[in-house]
Amino acid sequence: MIYTYSGSRLRSIFLGSENELLETKFHVKCPKCKGDVFFSFNEIQSIKGKLLDFTKASNLLKETQYGVEVKVGVPAYAISTKCKVCHMMIHIIIGAKEVQPQRFSVYIKTVIIESSSAD
Ligand SMILES: [Zn+2]
Repeated sequence: MIYTYSGSRLRSIFLGSENELLETKFHVKCPKCKGDVFFSFNEIQSIKGKLLDFTKASNLLKETQYGVEVKVGVPAYAISTKCKVCHMMIHIIIGAKEVQPQRFSVYIKTVIIESSSAD
């Protein structure tokens, strides 16, 4: 499995209530074909296994006593999906935090594509 990432500048994509967050349709550009890849917040998972190793080895995330974070105090998660255009496996690395009661801040750190060979 080969991972490559596209960009690493943390950018804010959302600030608002939990209800708004769950209803928002987000999208990123597929790094391979530039097609739109849509996702929603309820698809988030913890980052595990080889993907976790890659994000740490690439210095995309920081490991703290609380787990992996996109920046201090903001835990990192992954949304793993397939590009509907080129069918590449895509892992969107996001950070999310409740900044005030019922108010959430969400960031995108990077978009990682997963391929089985180096092509
Ligand atoms: Zn694509």
